[in-house]
This record gives sequence, C-alpha cells and structure tokens, in this order.
Amino acid sequence: MIDQEKIQQGVRLLLEGIGEDVNREGLIETPERIARMYEEIFGGMEEDAQVHFQKTFHVENNEMVVEKDITFYSMCEHHLLPFYGKAHIAYIPDGKVAGLSKLARTVEVFAKRLQLQEQLTAQIADAMMESLCPKGVMVMIEAEHMCMTMRGIKKPGSRTVTIVKRGMFEENPELTNLFFQMVK
Ligand code: ZN
Repeated sequence: MIDQEKIQQGVRLLLEGIGEDVNREGLIETPERIARMYEEIFGGMEEDAQVHFQKTFHVENNEMVVEKDITFYSMCEHHLLPFYGKAHIAYIPDGKVAGLSKLARTVEVFAKRLQLQEQLTAQIADAMMESLCPKGVMVMIEAEHMCMTMRGIKKPGSRTVTIVKRGMFEENPELTNLFFQMVK
C-alpha cells in the first residue's frame, strides 16, 4: 500500500536537506502534491499483470503478432528520475492471442514501479510467457534516462536499448531479424 503520510514526511525532509524552507509559499503544498502524484506513477505496485490476459481469443494461424511504439514512462530505481521511451513487443501465439490493448496495459503495470530498464524488459516478456503461453516472445525497449541526460555524463538524446527473447526467438535468428525489420 502506498503510504501518503510517509511520502509527505519524506519530501519535507528532502526539501530541508537541500536547504529549502518547507513553509514558503511555493513549497507548502508540494509534499502533498508529490504524494498524490506517486500514487499514480507508482500505481503498478498494486497491480497484477496477469489479469489483463484472462480474456483471450482463439486463433487458427500462429503468425507473429507485433505491437510496436508503445509509449511508457517509468522511474529509475537508482536515482528516482524518469526514464521513458517506447516498447515493442512480438509474440508467436500457440492457439490464443490477447487483445492488443492488453500488451500496452502490461507495459504500464510494470512501468509504474521503480524500475531498471533491463528488468522492465524481462518482466514484460516473462508475464506474457506465463499468462499467454505463446511459442515465443520478444520485447525491445528504447528509452531515454533522465539520470543520464540531466546529470552525470549528460548525453541528451542518447537512448538505451534492451532486448529480451524467450522461446522460439531464442533459437531462431530469422524471427529476430523479422522483428527488427517490423519495428524499424
Ligand atoms: Zn538512474
């Protein structure tokens, strides 16, 4: 459960820590505002990705399904700064498919937590393998990390790309190539 009171106390301490006056006009409501915002941007903590795959549709042909350019926003667990970008998902069904919006919902459930991009990529792939039992899944995420662009090495516009393959995609380079062509 997200504890609004604790977040507010934490933000007050943080503001004091950087030398701010927590009672000045501009900041007086900030702790409360952040607590409300965190409820939304960390809303995935209390959600189960599996629920989105409870309703599936039967299919005869098991051709690759690709959903690309799924925009997401997440928070880096090392710096509590945003990273955001696009996820591309492909899977080879084994007799059943999920509604296309469900793939985007799955990305959102895992993105709305403290994350590492590598872990986010793997969690999406594993959730799909578990709930949809396809012959294979491939997930690619391209993202810009604020902790890389506004501090440290400061490389604006640089993107981090992560890829996770499961099932048929692990053994079949042709499938992987087809995926790359489709998401380009
Ligand atoms: Zn970071």
